[in-house]
Amino acid sequence: MLKITDLHVAVDDNAILKGINLTVGAGEVHAIMGPNGSGKSTLSATLAGKDDYTITKGTVQFNNKNLIKLDADERAGEGVFLAFQYPVEIPGVSNKLFLRTALNGIRKYKGLQEIDRFDFEDLLAEKALLLKMPPHLLDRSVNEGFSGGEKKRNDILQMAVLAPNLCILDETDSGLDIDALKAVSEGVNALRDGNRAFIVVTHYQRILDYIKPDYVHVMVNGKIVKSGDYRLAKELEEKGYGWISAE
Ligand code: ADP
Ligand code: MG
Ligand code: MG
Repeated sequence: MLKITDLHVAVDDNAILKGINLTVGAGEVHAIMGPNGSGKSTLSATLAGKDDYTITKGTVQFNNKNLIKLDADERAGEGVFLAFQYPVEIPGVSNKLFLRTALNGIRKYKGLQEIDRFDFEDLLAEKALLLKMPPHLLDRSVNEGFSGGEKKRNDILQMAVLAPNLCILDETDSGLDIDALKAVSEGVNALRDGNRAFIVVTHYQRILDYIKPDYVHVMVNGKIVKSGDYRLAKELEEKGYGWISAE
């Protein structure tokens, strides 16, 4: 599904990603861990097509398309979804309208008609129930005044409604209490299937107790320096990141 080859990314002439190689197959869950400032958010944002990030070298293939050539809207249309580390508030735009507009944007990209309003209501109700999302949050402005946990859950609701192929979660677990973490993880697990892939970026091993990854990668200083399975996450939790940098 996704093949990243020797990816170098700079921000304002500062090299941040320094040769990332990563292959993600359909249905797989990859965790990316690493110390603060190692480039995890830069990688996530680069994949989603955020500007300000200059790709200085390397390629990114997504379902056999050159992802780098597509703008952020087109990437969303192709099925790439990023849940931000810091979800944005959009005062004055209802959550429901936002979700419907986003879904219709993707449908338009795919050459589909706008979703029927009643069908959308049904879809939203089904997904909100799945994610145990209180219905009143759907009528509020996007994320405005939401608690940290509600914002993250709202991000997962967006993901459920948009049904992307590649879901990138950038530290969705940070700042969540244990109940919110469980709710978010259950939401993610409900969306796991043989076609959808996940990149779960996290600083801590804890979320990986709930979202079991197939692969764990460690990023240090703009590179993936070690890859393994779930046991690597456990090892990091016990020993920290220092030993990897030393290695
Ligand atoms: P992580 O998510 O692993 O904590 P980031 O990708 O956020 O790391 O940041 C990696 C490095 O790139 C950091 O040193 C950070 O200061 C720098 N960086 C990220 N975004 C910008 C930016 N917009 N301008 C300047 N430096 C940035
Ligand atoms: Mg980050
Ligand atoms: Mg910009």
